[in-house]
Amino acid sequence: QSQELSQVQIDYHAALQALVEDGTRMVCTGRMHTDRICRFESLCYSTEAEEFVYFHSNSSVMLPNLGSRRFQPALLDLSSVEDHNTQYFNFVELPAAALKFMPKPVFVPDVALIANRFNPDNLMHVFHDDLLPIYYTMQQFSDLDLEARLFFMEGWSEGVHFDLYKLLSNKQPLLREQLKTLGRLLCFTKSYVGLSKITTWYQYGFVQPQGPKANILVSGNEIRQFTKFMMQKLNVSLEESSSEEYIVVFSRTINRLILNEAELILALAQEFQMKTITISLEEHSFSDIVRLIGNASMLVSMHGAQLVLSLFLPRGATVVELFPYAINPEHYTPYKTLATLPGMDLQYIAWQNTDREDTVTYPDRPWDQGGIAHLDKAEQERIIKSTEVPRHLCCRNPEWLFRAYQDTKVNIQSLIHVIRQTVKSKPGPKKQKWSGSLYPGKVRDAKCQASVQGTSEAKLAVSWQIPWNLKYLKTRAQAPASSHQLAPCCQPSSSKQGEGPRRLPGDRSKKGESIWGRGSERDALGGPQERQKEGRGN
Ligand code: UDP
Repeated sequence: QSQELSQVQIDYHAALQALVEDGTRMVCTGRMHTDRICRFESLCYSTEAEEFVYFHSNSSVMLPNLGSRRFQPALLDLSSVEDHNTQYFNFVELPAAALKFMPKPVFVPDVALIANRFNPDNLMHVFHDDLLPIYYTMQQFSDLDLEARLFFMEGWSEGVHFDLYKLLSNKQPLLREQLKTLGRLLCFTKSYVGLSKITTWYQYGFVQPQGPKANILVSGNEIRQFTKFMMQKLNVSLEESSSEEYIVVFSRTINRLILNEAELILALAQEFQMKTITISLEEHSFSDIVRLIGNASMLVSMHGAQLVLSLFLPRGATVVELFPYAINPEHYTPYKTLATLPGMDLQYIAWQNTDREDTVTYPDRPWDQGGIAHLDKAEQERIIKSTEVPRHLCCRNPEWLFRAYQDTKVNIQSLIHVIRQTVKSKPGPKKQKWSGSLYPGKVRDAKCQASVQGTSEAKLAVSWQIPWNLKYLKTRAQAPASSHQLAPCCQPSSSKQGEGPRRLPGDRSKKGESIWGRGSERDALGGPQERQKEGRGN
């Protein structure tokens, strides 16, 4: 035992000595506070001041060294939500010599990921803002492995979904409040601060009305790699494709209800000749929900956070999102954007209640559940008369909340009609197929030859070899093409349309494989469909 103690003591003294002599070292990626993640050695945290501390010494490093710009507005965003002024990270500075007068530091030996959860009580926020960003931040830095420890600094308690956060690493995540019990001055041996935003697809409307992010960088493949990881951790295995197909109605039980749920379930079962089941967050365990969604052919649900779980749907499945009266589906698209990410391979359908008779409002509830009794009479009347919530900023627009928390009697006929416009036969998962698009490398040996024949005729010949990787791909461009043509820009002025391919002297391409006309990007990319995929979400 004494040896163990002395071992700890030696480590402690070595760590303390390193801190005093070397100070804090910080090297970050990213050019702006909104895309920055920092790696620290010996970053400390005062649990009394609730501030991070950077110690200067002879060997300390601070990159970027921003001077006072470090406060304009902050070093980085601690959550994955862009530039939110309640989520900034910064540290205070001290000379390492000050350690002599400070509480004895307690060292955190684990590699730490330090971040804020944005809204851990809401499932959409849990997945979109926290779990996916944490998972892919950990993928970005190899020492953030399953032995790393997560530190949540936003100050919330565990929240109802804490078990999900626990899946991301083998060590119990620690909350800001718990740090106090560890000591007055904590020093993280090695830590990463901040979260990658690369997987987020939605902005919640803090500066402009909510909508898909301007530059979406994630595809279904990465989402599905994440869900595969989560399913393994939850011990959920997917059934064989031969098992019975079914529809899931995901119901809310507290508010934004479907008032005729039984009728809806019966109608769906009858229309699609499929078993139809209901699930809810209140009545099912999380792993049961994931297993049931993971094997479903169609997911039908009211607009709401529970719909983020459509990321567990199998490829080919259909998402049907129901919107209450006066809520324009085009203005609230977190789940549509998710379902239609390239490579998610989900079908998305929105249905809206357009009939005032089928809605039940709650004007007398508290404001955060959609009540409007606190507003002046004229404003209440305007809201009640209005047929559509105008676009608005987050998060307390009373008209939006009033409409968002209505209950709805779903008009079955109109719903089935809308679904049938997209789902022609039976809905259902399709066989997993690899659906990413590949791009050709550079063309090789590009040549441009001009020749003048007499005074009235000039020719411009452009030739090139196919990109190196094309010969290993089954693309249309690889097969001997039948109708190569130069792009209009390159047509020699005198040549006749449809003259066909010609060989240049010294053409090294195989017999029958013309090197003419490979200027058509369409061919190389495998047709217009592939090209369209490129333009996603911008
Ligand atoms: N929630 C639920 N059952 C309900 C209503 C809400 O489980 O009947 C959950 C919902 O999935 C979300 C959280 O409670 O995770 C907050 O719901 P809220 O209505 O505030 O947010 P929204 O669903 O509109 O994003």
